Amino acid sequence: MRGLAKLAAGRGNVALAERPERPPAKGETLLQVRGAGICGTDLHIADDEFRSDPPVTMGHEVCGVVLEAGQGVDPSWRDSRVVAETYFSTCSRCEWCRDGRVNLCPERRSIGSFVDGAFAPRVIVPARNLHRIPDWLDEHAASLAEPLACVCHCLLDPPKVTAGDLVVVTGPGPVGLLAAQVARALGGSVVVMGLESDTARLEAARKLGFETETSVDSLAARLEVTHGANVVIECSGSAGGAATCLNSVRRGGRYVQIGVFGKPVEIPLDRIFETEAILTSGFASTPRSWRHAMRLISEREIELEPLVSEVIPLGSWEVAFEKLRAGRAIKIVFDPRLEDSQDDGTRAQPEIAQTAVPASMKE
Ligand SMILES: [Zn+2]
Ligand SMILES: [Zn+2]
Repeated sequence: MRGLAKLAAGRGNVALAERPERPPAKGETLLQVRGAGICGTDLHIADDEFRSDPPVTMGHEVCGVVLEAGQGVDPSWRDSRVVAETYFSTCSRCEWCRDGRVNLCPERRSIGSFVDGAFAPRVIVPARNLHRIPDWLDEHAASLAEPLACVCHCLLDPPKVTAGDLVVVTGPGPVGLLAAQVARALGGSVVVMGLESDTARLEAARKLGFETETSVDSLAARLEVTHGANVVIECSGSAGGAATCLNSVRRGGRYVQIGVFGKPVEIPLDRIFETEAILTSGFASTPRSWRHAMRLISEREIELEPLVSEVIPLGSWEVAFEKLRAGRAIKIVFDPRLEDSQDDGTRAQPEIAQTAVPASMKE
């Protein structure tokens, strides 16, 4: 089968290529990929700024249907619509594994970077990683369960927002719009801050019911009465966003870093000293944060559909990567069942029956 893979170390070396297939081993399942979201991490892997073990099929945000269950796997998983946690294996011996903090295991191997991932028609994942999705949930939108689980790890374990808190989120990309929704679910009153150029993303934020700001001065004026925000959540991964957050946090407040800078940046860290703000972050997701995420989705506390800008075939990856780099989309999701010819640069409208496997899948 053809998959989008990082073929060799170094910058670039990403291409659609013939990828190996095997049946699921003991404890594993084979999924037909229905939706695979392109993440900032994928761009970092392409740019050689995030560790990977090439050649490897990329893609770790996956929704699919269980086609085959390996030995020892409950057969009732077959035909289920699922999303999957990303860890393929952890060492289970290190002190972090033994503490239940598997996301911090130094030997952690995840799909899409160390093990073949979901930018392909089919992917193998351990059955223990599966979560069924609600019947009403769109399979493309469901691939956002993974970034939501990462956000939940940062904001819910333990909770960083209390009812009545004034919250500022910088960076209205998919992670920012998920963080804003989680903060609101916790009882926060949320302002989403972006750049003038983030027009579509801020529009999406307003549609989700958030107040938005693009000017640092007008944000400062808004925060004057309360002497700052109780919680600031940095989701832009930019020095400017971090500075806005540090300058907006109230004395004794909280600063949560979720965005990834990808390089050293200069930020006014003395603000932590002056405000005694508590700075926290979170690396990837945990089984616990996945349970939080799936519950927020099924309780409809979080809307995922509005974050999907486009659904595209694997063949359109280059244009998609470019758009995401330029911030011209929120989330772009691959549906490997789509034929490349359907891509004319506009949003694909997949009208594929939930269980039908198109001819192109039976290669
Ligand atoms: Zn991701
Ligand atoms: Zn370990």
